[in-house]
Formats: sequence, structure tokens, C-alpha cells
Amino acid sequence: MIPKVITGMIPEIIKAPATLAMLGGGQLGRFFVTAAHELGYKVIVLDPDPDAPAGLIADEHIVAAYDDPAALEQLANRCAAATTEFENVPAAALQKLAKKIPVHPSAEAVAIAQNRIAEKRFLGNNGFATAPFLVIEKANELTSAGDDMFPAILKIARFGYDGKGQARVKNISEAQQAFAEFNAPCVLEKMVKLDLEVSVVLARNSRGECQSFTLTENIHHHGILDISIAPARTSTTLLAKAEEMAKQVAQALHYVGVMAVEFFIVNGELLINEIAPRPHNSGHYTLDGCITHQFEQQVRALCNLPLGAPRLHSASVMVNLLGDLWFQENSDEGREPDWAKLNNIPNLKLHLYGKESARPGRKMGHFTVIDSDVAEAVTTALAARKAIGIKD
Ligand code: ATP
Ligand code: MG
Repeated sequence: MIPKVITGMIPEIIKAPATLAMLGGGQLGRFFVTAAHELGYKVIVLDPDPDAPAGLIADEHIVAAYDDPAALEQLANRCAAATTEFENVPAAALQKLAKKIPVHPSAEAVAIAQNRIAEKRFLGNNGFATAPFLVIEKANELTSAGDDMFPAILKIARFGYDGKGQARVKNISEAQQAFAEFNAPCVLEKMVKLDLEVSVVLARNSRGECQSFTLTENIHHHGILDISIAPARTSTTLLAKAEEMAKQVAQALHYVGVMAVEFFIVNGELLINEIAPRPHNSGHYTLDGCITHQFEQQVRALCNLPLGAPRLHSASVMVNLLGDLWFQENSDEGREPDWAKLNNIPNLKLHLYGKESARPGRKMGHFTVIDSDVAEAVTTALAARKAIGIKD
């Protein structure tokens, strides 16, 4: 059961310099810490990794498991409210905290978004279209997949991200092999022919007010987001429809905080790919391209402040910087890329996440090119991407 927001009750504003709890210490948490500091709040980060990027800049970093009772007790006693930056935080930890302090998003909303089976059932029950799929909890359930399901992607129901925990399969026997390797509940999803991928990042506060950012067009490479372009270059009618659908999803989840809805556009129709119960990589452009960015909205929603204006002031193109870039020229030893190549582009904003070690596929940073014209921004961003050594 998802707790309903009680209309008419105006929750109290949590005023700075209150301390906020952040479960998760990755780059999304790091941007949250910066946004919270900008508004005068303190942040305690909980993350088991001592090198977690958000922990490095937080007022305090509790290095413990997300379900560590003593750590949760400390957060409940010392923080005015709690939020999270990744969907794999145990919903039970959020539930435990929620007994003592406000927690947004709710454990119930996170529990749906962190499990592809629950997520797809929720979307189906609420009338949202998705790619054709089958729930596969036991190997014999794969036999019900007809030929029209293939080629398909087998996706583990929990703990997948950036294309991890996914296998592209051409037939039942490949699906069976992949399922045996994952050895966990999965969904088998038909590969659809994408016209385009777009996403909506929005913020919703406890009064039910909802503000969406300009939709982005997203280009993935090997299942990982590579480039996001705002505004998305597609039909405005379709974009308006996607925005409305995302707001309906947020409402159906009684969602409070920042969330993203990823869409596939297939034959001019919108299918929901997935929901992220947190700020989103495709919303990083808002840091430089919008009046209020997604992390400030996250702080505002958590603290019951009015939401800021999400308006896009400049066309923006965001490019992810993955750890692969540290391993050019086939060297085994990671080498810092030559940032001078980016620093001399005046309308390019570079963000590095302070991660100690680069690994292929690891998100190390991003840059955003802002311009009055989206086509110009794309041209500059692609040239910058090439200059720094990113291969197509
Ligand atoms: P992320 O954390 O980056 O969102 P993820 O691990 O949750 O990734 P998905 O969003 O399910 O993975 O898939 C990653 C990408 O793979 C999608 O954005 C899309 O480009 C491609 N993809 C996934 N499912 C399908 C599908 N059914 N048909 C076609 N392409 C797909
Ligand atoms: Mg995705």
C-alpha cells in the first residue's frame, strides 16, 4: 500500500541549518550535498564505501551498511529528514527511518522502482504501456515465450544498472542459458525498434505540486547513457504526452522528491522503459541549463520548500565521461584525460565526481555544452567528445 498524501495538510518547512540524511554516496548524492550546502543545510551520508564521492564532501560520512541498525538510529536521531540517491537502497531501511523522520521518496515507491517485476506490474495496472514482457521466476516459464518475443533482453529484476544484469538473447535456448547464469528472478523483454529514447525528470512536493524539466533525448552506447540533448528533437505533441504520463506515474506513486521516467518511442508511440526514484543522469544538464537544477529540487521537495522554476535557459547537451577514457592507448594503467581540451571551450561545463579509481564503464564525470541553439550545442559537444578521445 502506498501512503496517500493528505491534501489540505501543509507540512512544515524544514529550515536550514537542519541536517539531512542521504542514503547512498555516489555522484548523485554528491550533487545533492552541494545543493543542500548551497541552501545552508548539513548532510550526513550513509554509504558502506569509505571512498564514496558524496561522503568525501558531506558534513559527515557514516561508513556502514544501509541496513545497519546503529547507523539508521543515528540518522533518525540527528537528521530532520532523509532521502536517497539510488534505487537499490533496501526499502526496509527507508521504512525503519520513516517511523521517526520524514523520508522521501517513500519506501513503497522505491520498492516498486527497484524491482523490474513490481515496476512493470505497477505500470500495467495503471494503464501505462511498456515493451512486451514476461515475468520469469522459474526456468520453465521461459517455454511460454513465443517466437515473436525474440530477439529479447533478459533483465534481472533487481540490482541491475547501466545495462548490467542484462543479456541480449535471440531465442529460448539463449534465454535459458542467461537465466541459469543470473540465477535470479528476471523479466524477458522483447527488443523493440527504437525511434528515439526520451526521459522526463520531475520534482513533486508533499502538496502534490509537480514541476517537470525539459525532456531530453537520450543516446545510449552499450546500454549506458552516452549523450542527453535538451530539448529533445522530436514532436512537441509526443513530448507533452510523455510529460503528462510521467506526472501521472508520480501521482500514482504518491511520489515526493525527484524522479525520472525513461521512455522508448516506438512507431510514434510512447512506451515506459523504467522509473528511477531519484535524480537521473539524463537530468545532469539541469545543473548548467536550467534556473533550478534537479538536485536543488530534491532538497526543496525534501524540506517542503516551494519548488524552484525548472525553466531551461539554454539548450544543453550532456556527455558522460566513463572510466574507459582513462585507459586509452591500450595502457593498463589509468591515466587522467587531458582536461585542457575541454577547459578551453567557453560554453562547456566540466563536472568530475572525485572518484579515486577509474574502471571501464564507471561514470567518472560529465560535461554539458550550453548554447542558444540546440544544433550548435550538439556540434560543439560532439567535437569536444572527439577531442577528449571518446570513440564512437
Ligand atoms: P540505466 O541504469 O542506465 O537506466 P538499466 O540497467 O536500468 O540502465 P535499461 O534502462 O533497462 O537498463 O536499458 C538500458 C538501455 O538498453 C535502454 O536505455 C535502451 O537503449 C536499451 N534497451 C533496454 N531495453 C530495451 C528493449 N526492450 N528494446 C530495445 N532497447 C532496449
Ligand atoms: Mg534505463
